[in-house]
Amino acid sequence: MDSMILKDCILCPRECHVDRTAGKKGYCKVTDELVVARAALHMWEEPCISGEEGSGTVFFSGCALGCVYCQNSNIAKSLAGKIITIERLAEIFLELEAKGANNINLVTPSHYVLHIIEALNISRQKGLTLPIVYNCSGYEKVEALKLLEGYIDIYLTDLKYMSAEPAEKYSNCKDYFLVAAGAIEEMVRQVKEANFDDRGIMQRGVIVRHLTLPGYLEDSKAIIKYLYETYGDRIFISIMNQYTPITKNRAYPELNRKITEEEYEELIGYAIEIGLENGFIQEGETALESFIPEFNGEGV
Ligand code: SF4
Repeated sequence: MDSMILKDCILCPRECHVDRTAGKKGYCKVTDELVVARAALHMWEEPCISGEEGSGTVFFSGCALGCVYCQNSNIAKSLAGKIITIERLAEIFLELEAKGANNINLVTPSHYVLHIIEALNISRQKGLTLPIVYNCSGYEKVEALKLLEGYIDIYLTDLKYMSAEPAEKYSNCKDYFLVAAGAIEEMVRQVKEANFDDRGIMQRGVIVRHLTLPGYLEDSKAIIKYLYETYGDRIFISIMNQYTPITKNRAYPELNRKITEEEYEELIGYAIEIGLENGFIQEGETALESFIPEFNGEGV
């Protein structure tokens, strides 16, 4: 691994310039030690990712974005998880393949890009054949994504905000949209056309997720419009309604509710009206707890 990059870390747009190899932590709250909270088959991704067999998810601890409403905050902020070697990560990938996973799904991977590349080199040499999913927040540097070219088959990225106001308020990054839009452009360039196997499981492609937040319906519409007008049917758009206020957030009382069925229906209606066809929606009850797995070190 090129540890020079971690000596003055600028892997993600936070550009902390800390020496992670000397035990320093930047915004993502991790040194160069690899911390993983869970590695298991996961059934709650989009159907073309999970299928019936499940997606081989690896949840990395730490996060460079740190949203105030994070649903995985026990791993993103408090670093629940186990320190493992890169060789162990490669083994985990192979174990998930042996369990029948449809893919290897790297969740919140941005601060571990270098570790992941090394683990993929090892596991590919040992026979890993599954598609690799890079499941990220969208707040990614194009330079870091370029390092991943040829390693990643599916980009499953968020596009959280268009306006600077919620981006700054909830994720402390008012440049979020500009950064994420550039990242998505690079993802589409790398992956090109989407393709699926005969069971309908995605083998290559870009899926952009948007989690609708209470009170930001117009921002959500603007995001869907932007994505559809820019990429048409080259990408898939996943419109999510599962936002859950985990604890009462006194600083942001507007976030202490789920979005209503009417709000979600309005957004879906809008997406259909502008012509979106390559989309995923969530049906039934919003915010089921089953979307949030237990981070108990399983599979690590
Ligand atoms: S990966 Fe972590 S330390 Fe490096 S720039 Fe991003 S937040 Fe900072």
